[in-house]
Amino acid sequence: MKKDRKELLKIGFGSLFLLLGIILPKVFALPDFVEFSLSLVALLTAGYDVYLSAVKNILKGDFLDEKFLMAIASVGAFVIGEYSEGVAVMLFFSVGEFFERKAVGKSRKSIKALMQIRPDTARVIREGEEVTVDAEEVMIGEILVLAAGERIPVDCVVIEGKGDIDTSSVTGESLPMSAYEDTELSGGCVNMNSQLKAKAIRTAEDSAASRILSLVEEATDKKSKQENFITAFSRYYTPIVVFSAIALAIIPPFFDGMAFTKWIYRALMFLVVSCPCALVISVPLSFFGGIGAAASRGILYKGGYSFDAMKNVSTVIFDKTGTLTTGKFNIDDIVTVANITKDELLEIAARAEHNSSHPMALALKTAYGKKTVIPDSSNEIAGEGIISVFGEEKILVGNKKLLVSHGIEVETDSDDSSIYVAKNGKYLGYITLIDEVKPEARNAVKELRALGVRNTVMLTGDKSSTAELVSLDVGIDDCHASLMPEDKYRLLELWLRATDGRVIYVGDGINDAPVIARADVGVAMGNVGSDAAIEASDLVIMSGNLKKLPEAIKIARRTLRIAKENIILAIGIKLLVLILCAVGLIGMWWAVFADVGVAVLAILNAMRTLRFNK
Ligand code: ADP
Ligand code: MG
Repeated sequence: MKKDRKELLKIGFGSLFLLLGIILPKVFALPDFVEFSLSLVALLTAGYDVYLSAVKNILKGDFLDEKFLMAIASVGAFVIGEYSEGVAVMLFFSVGEFFERKAVGKSRKSIKALMQIRPDTARVIREGEEVTVDAEEVMIGEILVLAAGERIPVDCVVIEGKGDIDTSSVTGESLPMSAYEDTELSGGCVNMNSQLKAKAIRTAEDSAASRILSLVEEATDKKSKQENFITAFSRYYTPIVVFSAIALAIIPPFFDGMAFTKWIYRALMFLVVSCPCALVISVPLSFFGGIGAAASRGILYKGGYSFDAMKNVSTVIFDKTGTLTTGKFNIDDIVTVANITKDELLEIAARAEHNSSHPMALALKTAYGKKTVIPDSSNEIAGEGIISVFGEEKILVGNKKLLVSHGIEVETDSDDSSIYVAKNGKYLGYITLIDEVKPEARNAVKELRALGVRNTVMLTGDKSSTAELVSLDVGIDDCHASLMPEDKYRLLELWLRATDGRVIYVGDGINDAPVIARADVGVAMGNVGSDAAIEASDLVIMSGNLKKLPEAIKIARRTLRIAKENIILAIGIKLLVLILCAVGLIGMWWAVFADVGVAVLAILNAMRTLRFNK
């Protein structure tokens, strides 16, 4: 605000002195030095800070920026006696900068507004009484009181009450989620209609809302190809322009016999027009807006660099469990082959899974329902299962491969998603778990095709019978089952080499982390995803809703289109004006006006990226 006022005062006084300098000498027939002094006051008012920072940059050794161009153009105009032109250069430049700052500020603010998801206070029960504290002060394990209509302060688990939760600000999902005992809630969501009690499971710093905010902040720092192009472009562009201007001032006078001042004037104009501010500011601004628009829909791009890859996607590879299917397993059947009951088999399996967060492990522990103790040692083998030791007991829970590789015979040939249990080298039985295909999966795959995706592939560690059912159900072309994490990696590499477009990999588990990192665009499902998968990804879909994937592609393409429009607009108009200047068809006023005009237009266009409607 204060800076705005200063800037406006500067422009106002500069214009006033400029007008006085033009009018007074004419009306009262005053000597030339009056116009000179009034214009000089105007020039210094409007441009003192530009000169200061130009000098600072020269001292730092990188002087070829737009401020430098403006400084020599305006001083040059003065030297050849074109006082009002010199002032105009500075004034217009200040106006342009003012708009630029406004635009950047506005888009920052709108992203912040989209992200107003971190509540400041929390109500906790301390010493039997309800007190309001800063959200940052909530400790893990404390009991929170969540009033209806309030934002949830930190990640927590419901311990009392039932109600609906609006998760849209965190996941971009518009349907409310129902919450009851044991439901995990993310900080930043809104508790819609009834009071709940919940236990904090993460501090504010580690909660969903903070993680999203810091991701978005980081994202705006990671540059896209277009942005890097702009930086590289400016590095060569400015020196070229400066040398062309010098050439334009020195060489032609020898041939056409016109006055030196005339050509110097044209050269100065040339400098003004060549200022690349429209490009330098509007392209990053476009990406900034695109990232913000995506974030508000629960799609977290970790940087504008992924937008480039989204332009030409030929192949989308999915993991099965947790990605195409819900990952929420129910127990379908328990079969024991040893002399134990079904409940005992479930107990053994659930105990062994104590340390695992694999969707199947969670299902077993939920079905068992009682607390389990920490094993003496526990070794989870991605894609196979887990081995846990309790004193003399060694328990194996996993697929057939795990048991067979430990020399344990598995006789039954159950052909569904079963996991097998063995204790101390003896096979005890199996538990069949089923989960469902996500309801939106089929349509999402269809939409991907409409966006030009030619190959859809499923890679899974699960058995081929289950895998084929799922891929048929969803409409996937190509399905590979019984894969170890390294097999997934190998197949992905094959696809990367075989196709000429880009390859997206969508997954959720730890076993997916290497493939997510290797793919052109790695996508992690935020709702069930392991931290490793989210960390390795370029893009997180907070809700795990597959519909968001085509949406993410559309946002990326739209952002790129707008950035490209800006590049063409800016360079096109620049070139035109440069030519008109060089041949002397337009004067410096027009040159400056065109320059600021393009910058403002490009900025306004860039801000469109913030608003994305399907
Ligand atoms: P996907 O590739 O479909 O996401 P995973 O690679 O995570 O599947 O798992 C493949 C298979 O390995 C599972 O179907 C299951 O049989 C077994 N498995 C992996 N981890 C565990 C575990 N913690 N407990 C039991 N079984 C497991
Ligand atoms: Mg998985």
